[in-house]
Amino acid sequence: MSTPANTNEYDIIDTQALIIGAGPVGLFAVFQLGMVGISAHVLDILPRAGGQCVELYPDKPIFDIPSQPRISGGELIERLLQQAAPFEPTFHFKESAQTLERIPEDQGGGFIVASASGKRFRAPVVVIAAGGGAIAPKRPPLKGLEEFEEKSVFYAVREPQMFRGKRIVVAGGGDSALDWAIELAPLARHLTLLHRREEFRAAPASVARMREMVVAGEMDFRLGQIAGLVGENGVLQAVRARHAGETFDIAADVALLFFGLAGRLGALEKWGYELRGGRIVVDTQAFETSIPGVFAIGDVCDYPGKLKLILSGFHEAALMAQKAAKYVFPDRHIAFEHSTSSSILAEKLGQG
Ligand SMILES: Cc1cc2nc3c(=O)[nH]c(=O)nc-3n(C[C@H](O)[C@H](O)[C@H](O)COP(=O)(O)OP(=O)(O)OC[C@H]3O[C@@H](n4cnc5c(N)ncnc54)[C@H](O)[C@@H]3O)c2cc1C
Repeated sequence: MSTPANTNEYDIIDTQALIIGAGPVGLFAVFQLGMVGISAHVLDILPRAGGQCVELYPDKPIFDIPSQPRISGGELIERLLQQAAPFEPTFHFKESAQTLERIPEDQGGGFIVASASGKRFRAPVVVIAAGGGAIAPKRPPLKGLEEFEEKSVFYAVREPQMFRGKRIVVAGGGDSALDWAIELAPLARHLTLLHRREEFRAAPASVARMREMVVAGEMDFRLGQIAGLVGENGVLQAVRARHAGETFDIAADVALLFFGLAGRLGALEKWGYELRGGRIVVDTQAFETSIPGVFAIGDVCDYPGKLKLILSGFHEAALMAQKAAKYVFPDRHIAFEHSTSSSILAEKLGQG
């Protein structure tokens, strides 16, 4: 972190709080900050809100959101957006936060955050809700891979119906690979699960179900490591694999590759706060980092007993907002209010 050398007043976006990350926790932070009278701008590298819920499991049911016995990742994000809407957040998508500069107290204090595209934001409070960092799939080192990507090779399933009637190879041994193999097999003309060993990282129930389906002839399982893609102009004909010195081709129109995520905080690791195991260390009173005024909530933060759960991120957002208000309104006494009796919320919802 540094102090700003060349602050051009005209190109700076002023906001009371800057939230980095529009995943479920960043979205709920908009609501909690709004409840204490703080308006927010929100930055995300991705072209849409939702973080892991939308990128990795939009259609999967989540069972541990209080009062929602079953809700899909996509639906949860829709509702969080609705809940945040009265506070009119300004979203900046496809913007990655790169640098943090502290503004000296005699120049007003607070921070300037610059994005990779050169946008600059000035705020008394910065809230990092960046999850595991940029959500990017691990790509295998295959020749010509780019030619097939988003045409016949995919790292996520957004629309299962687009795979109906296709010959599919699913590669990987974790939950995503097993879940999608089980779900897509009934739609596919033929589905092969390809994994380099007999052991799987996926939930035992999914592995058992997959084995049942193999026995019933509803999918194939092949031991092997992906070694190449056969086809032209992005049209896949086969997936080439290797096992125990033997190379073989599996006929395929589509390959779904689930080798995990290469989540990295990248620039956010260099902002000068304390880190532990690649995550940002916070206190548990307000989820503030070692830089006063900079908070970290959700999957990105670390403290004793931290669980990477959406529920935990929601709690962290609520406590963060109470402390953030002290920076944004240093002269104001902020009384804690329930949402049922919040005058700010009533006004925003047009019930004041
Ligand atoms: C398959 C799967 C199933 C799951 N099931 C459950 C479940 O049942 N219950 C549960 O509670 N949790 C579940 N989780 C975990 C849950 O999804 C995470 O705990 C949650 O998404 C964390 O939210 P977040 O907002 O902290 O981070 P994320 O959802 O990771 O969002 C972070 C956002 O920050 C953005 N970002 C990162 N770096 C930058 C930057 N430098 N600049 C701008 N933007 C940036 C990213 O693009 C991303 O959109 C599951 C996760 C997976 C993968």
